[in-house]
Amino acid sequence: MTTTQLTDAELTREIRELLERERLRQWVRSCLSKCRYSSANRANAAVRRARLRRRVVLRTYYCEHCGGWHLTKQVQR
Ligand SMILES: [Zn+2]
Repeated sequence: MTTTQLTDAELTREIRELLERERLRQWVRSCLSKCRYSSANRANAAVRRARLRRRVVLRTYYCEHCGGWHLTKQVQR
């Protein structure tokens, strides 16, 4: 047996895999677990409905993962 130390290439690959996993996690959080709207207009209509019916202020954002629009809670300061 020689050394168990990772080579630079292996280390780089490990880091890439970690980043990829994190990206997928973000994707699930910001996309797959949310309602998807096919256009900004539909998303904005849903924002108005939520404000009227549930009195919550939402924000729309374009999703690069699915090419649709999602809603997210407005961040309050
Ligand atoms: Zn999405």
